[in-house]
Amino acid sequence: MTAEVEERLERLAQLIAGSPHNLVGPRDRDVVRPRHIDEALAIARVFTFRSGQRWLDLGTGGGLPGLALALTHPEVEWVLLDATRKKVEEVDRFIVELGLQNAATRWGRAEDLARRDGERGVYDGVVSRAVGSLPVVMELARGFLREGGYLVAIKGPAVAEEMRAARAAAKPLHFQAITSRPVPDPERSTVLVTMRAHGAPPARFPRRVGEPAATPLGG
Ligand code: SAH
Repeated sequence: MTAEVEERLERLAQLIAGSPHNLVGPRDRDVVRPRHIDEALAIARVFTFRSGQRWLDLGTGGGLPGLALALTHPEVEWVLLDATRKKVEEVDRFIVELGLQNAATRWGRAEDLARRDGERGVYDGVVSRAVGSLPVVMELARGFLREGGYLVAIKGPAVAEEMRAARAAAKPLHFQAITSRPVPDPERSTVLVTMRAHGAPPARFPRRVGEPAATPLGG
């Protein structure tokens, strides 16, 4: 990583830590760079992005993992989505402060946005951290993905318990090739779960706002 990129990641950490909107827990303000941003960048350690791709960060909150990946992968277009307006406004401010040309935001619920022209079935990939259990994230993500698109979810070790439901949810959602791999890291036990979309998004997903989380697929 170049010194310039490293500096901008440090600046991102300061922006997130300094925000009045509690984008990380109060005890985490000093560890945004080594903990949260590093975890976001773990995706790029196991996954190769291709130039010109368009990726969505679903439930970006204060901008993670999307902004960290936008800084390290300028060849990819990043769209950062969140349901909370204040968070999206903060992320907009960070994009301007960092001078990012390859990042944009959307404010709204994934359930609504995934039905819109220009958003449905057009993304090469979706990344997501700390938004919900795997079946919930899978349903919220699927509408955005084109044939062959990837979902990459950052999870902790407890994800093992969600894998059975995720495999069951994969059938109606038309996902395949689910894999989970621990990221080698002495500090944390991060697990990345990846899968691929096959075919266009099935018409009945996502269900109405709130339903994916209230009655998750996969039992
Ligand atoms: N990814 C960030 C934030 C996690 S908090 C991080 O790792 O730090 C979860 C975020 O997901 C919240 O900001 C919440 O507003 C958003 N979210 C939850 N459900 C959503 C939905 N259905 N559509 C859009 N955003 C959603």
